[in-house]
Amino acid sequence: MINFGITLKNLIESYNIEVLEENIANCLTKIEIDRLGKEGISLDSNSDKLKIMPDGTFEYKDERVLYYIPKAYFTKRIGDAPSSLSRVHIVFCRTLKEQKKKGTFSQYKVTNRKDGKYHYRFNDGIVENQELLVCQNCLQQFYGTKYHNMDYEEFFNKGRQGKKSP
Ligand SMILES: [Zn+2]
Repeated sequence: MINFGITLKNLIESYNIEVLEENIANCLTKIEIDRLGKEGISLDSNSDKLKIMPDGTFEYKDERVLYYIPKAYFTKRIGDAPSSLSRVHIVFCRTLKEQKKKGTFSQYKVTNRKDGKYHYRFNDGIVENQELLVCQNCLQQFYGTKYHNMDYEEFFNKGRQGKKSP
């Protein structure tokens, strides 16, 4: 039997439409999923979607992400050794805090690459799979030692396990 007494307000409440909209806004779009796995996402206009978790890790729309500067100001020929390039940040470490204070945060992108290789721009071109090292301040903060051997699968899986199920 149809209940004609139901108001639109009741209807919205009964279907939790507001909650649904909030969930959609917090879902990664297909383009974002692609970008997170390739060139990364610049957070200039989306920084409200980035959360710093209690353990210091970052989540973008509920997806654990890493922070990095995706470019070098020299040519690949001069040097693509990972030790001479920018580091990847797994937590909101001392280095990032200093960068944030300096106001140079806009050059960073977030990524969820799990192979330690990243989309990286040199003055003479882009490398799709450039190996980068993890920041030692991050390793010290998260693992308690800067000599930790980074295991990305473990790092990303731990993030998922720690999350509450919907
Ligand atoms: Zn760091």
